[in-house]
Amino acid sequence: MAQAMVIGAGPAGLMAAEQLAAAGHQVLVAEAKPSVARKFLMAGKSGLNLTKNEPFDQLTGAYGDAGDWLRPMLRDFDARAVMGWAGDLGQEMFTGSTGRVFPKAMKASPLLRAWLARLEQAGVEIRTRWRWQGWRDAALMFETPNGEQLCTPDVTVLALGGASWARLGSDGAWASRLADKDVALAPFAPANAALSVDWSHHMQPHFGTALKSVRWTVGELTSRGEATISAKGLEGGGLYSLTPAIRAGTPLYLDLVPDMTAEALQTRLAGKKAKATLSHWLKNSLRLSPQKIALFHEMTKGAASGQAQWADALKHLPVRYSDLRPMDEAISTAGGVRRTAVDDGLMLNALPGVFCAGEMLDWEAPTGGYLLTACLATGRWAGKSAAAWMEGRASA
Ligand SMILES: Cc1cc2nc3c(=O)[nH]c(=O)nc-3n(C[C@H](O)[C@H](O)[C@H](O)COP(=O)(O)OP(=O)(O)OC[C@H]3O[C@@H](n4cnc5c(N)ncnc54)[C@H](O)[C@@H]3O)c2cc1C
Repeated sequence: MAQAMVIGAGPAGLMAAEQLAAAGHQVLVAEAKPSVARKFLMAGKSGLNLTKNEPFDQLTGAYGDAGDWLRPMLRDFDARAVMGWAGDLGQEMFTGSTGRVFPKAMKASPLLRAWLARLEQAGVEIRTRWRWQGWRDAALMFETPNGEQLCTPDVTVLALGGASWARLGSDGAWASRLADKDVALAPFAPANAALSVDWSHHMQPHFGTALKSVRWTVGELTSRGEATISAKGLEGGGLYSLTPAIRAGTPLYLDLVPDMTAEALQTRLAGKKAKATLSHWLKNSLRLSPQKIALFHEMTKGAASGQAQWADALKHLPVRYSDLRPMDEAISTAGGVRRTAVDDGLMLNALPGVFCAGEMLDWEAPTGGYLLTACLATGRWAGKSAAAWMEGRASA
């Protein structure tokens, strides 16, 4: 029987397994799905933004209140370390203009192949179609193609993911098993989520088009990122970073002309000929894109009349939406194992010898490479802590 078990073969679990093997332990990884790292491979479909190359304080700031908790783990495996790790796996990396870091291959499969080969060489054994079902007395219980298996490793690292894109494996079903063991959990919530909007038929021609050069504002938060108009609503990186405030019900506003001051806009509007229609003027004088004009009309519903109201709506358009899109569609989830439920080494206080890593921990961050960076860093931290805990017991 393996000395160490890792449950969940996403980036956090694989990283924990690598640390345990490097410390000389026999490691078995159990994965419920027929193949490993399905969400990681999905992340590769949009280029695999692995990390963000920026000053360390800015990087930790992206994790909001959890930045302070994750700081030592990110210090131990920061953006530079992520790039070095991917480089060691044969991936040439590049940093985009915004600091986002990608492999030149713009996909995850070559990196994953090289990583799995290295894990195999290190002696890590991976069993797929092994679904963890909780504990029976002290044993971990798995449903496998060969029937139920019970395992009693010296240490366990849980890296079971969040609660979105359940078809890729992270279904959040683990939460009730940990709650039964008195592990404190924050409720799951969508993070990096799109918005549901009940569009009128006027918006149909604009489905699939992007809103560029805009500024979104929710309370104190602003974003200059793009969003796409879809049949279901609005989606894209420009909105994702605002999810925490949107979730809290703070109203969302859009500046359709962020590079023009309100005064300059008023001056331009004063020059509008009385007989020119507003749409004509927005197109020909202000050079707004068709989708911006459509959104302006959709959201104001003709209620804005006169120069002052038009200017106000162009700079501060209230964006009406019905809700966030369902959690399963979100790029990531907030909530999970609370900071108070684990010690400094990510071991569960309620379950000595059981460690947690990755998105199942209660932190959230915008897209931009922050998600994978924290999954890798917490996986590494949990793996190293688990190895140290075993060694401490052996020498006691
Ligand atoms: C479309 C999309 C694009 C993304 N793009 C990016 C990006 O570019 N950059 C970025 O930083 N992040 C991105 N992310 C987020 C990133 O992929 C995740 O945050 C990351 O994969 C989480 O890693 P994890 O190891 O914690 O969990 P996961 O990758 O979810 O892995 C958890 C594993 O645990 C397994 N598991 C669950 N329950 C059980 C059980 N009971 N028994 C056994 N195994 C179980 C699952 O099958 C799964 O393999 C993207 C996500 C999506 C959906």
